Amino acid sequence: MTARIIDGKALSATVRAEVAERVKTLRAQGIQPGLAVVLVGEDPASQVYVRNKAAACEQAGLHSRVIRMGEDTTEAELLDVVRQLNDDASIHGILVQLPLPGHMNTAKVIETIAAEKDVDGFHISNAGLLMTGKPLFRPCTPYGVMKMLESEQVAIWGAEAVVVGASNIVGKPMAMLLLAAGATVTLCNSKTRDLGKQTRRADILIVATGRPGMVTADMIKPGAVVIDVGINRLPDGGLVGDVEFEGAREVAGAITPVPGGVGPMTIAMLLVNTLEAAERSAAGISLQTQ
Ligand code: NDP
Repeated sequence: MTARIIDGKALSATVRAEVAERVKTLRAQGIQPGLAVVLVGEDPASQVYVRNKAAACEQAGLHSRVIRMGEDTTEAELLDVVRQLNDDASIHGILVQLPLPGHMNTAKVIETIAAEKDVDGFHISNAGLLMTGKPLFRPCTPYGVMKMLESEQVAIWGAEAVVVGASNIVGKPMAMLLLAAGATVTLCNSKTRDLGKQTRRADILIVATGRPGMVTADMIKPGAVVIDVGINRLPDGGLVGDVEFEGAREVAGAITPVPGGVGPMTIAMLLVNTLEAAERSAAGISLQTQ
């Protein structure tokens, strides 16, 4: 069997076009959704991500503001900027690009973002809402994966879903979204004893570890849907995922490539989250009333 390739680039373009249409409707009411991205320091990968996010906003008709702060910025200065953005009515979404420099308390910075503007969905209130089945913002990467499964008409209800990687930003929220959609979910981490035994049960296998090629063909159930979240840069500059793609595509029923899979969906869902924050703000819906 050769797997169907799930084209994240094409789906991302469709989602962005839908966002652009909804943005037009809001703009006709005099509201332009606005995203603020705060970047502290000079991390080259973060610079690229921030540029791409700002460009995607412009293309879809959203307003974007990029705030660049030096590596030596103090935590107090960053918190001040976040508070000003919380109070700025033209900004509906706030994203602080991670990782932050080592002298910052990342959790404290994220908790300072108003939960209604936390388009990354990392604020503890948003994590709690997701956990209790009433999500306000779904973290962009797992949200993008759900969108891919939906567009591929993957049957989630009753399916065995295995998530490899349990970070707060990908693995854990991924597990919650799959659970809410009716899957039986297994969440694996680096301590999982026999990883292959777990992954071979998966009808839906999501891998997000940052370990290039760690999931091989023999770890995949024939016909499974395999979503590779990993983005790993090789010494030659190429990008690979966490799944050994060439072998895996001979066993899986459907698989995402890297690049061109989950990556483009993450940005598309950031636009969706920002748009929805603006729509809620326009409708006067707050965290308390939703
Ligand atoms: P983290 O490093 O925060 O988490 C990695 C997780 O993988 C941890 O839970 C860790 O377990 C687990 N893990 C590590 N090694 C193994 C192993 N051998 N077997 C099983 N589990 C293992 O990474 P992130 O979640 O932030 O990112 C994961 C990958 O996804 C990275 O490649 C990253 O670049 C990519 N990514 C891609 C995005 C996109 O838009 N496509 C967005 C965000 C991330 P433990 O908890 O025990 O340490």
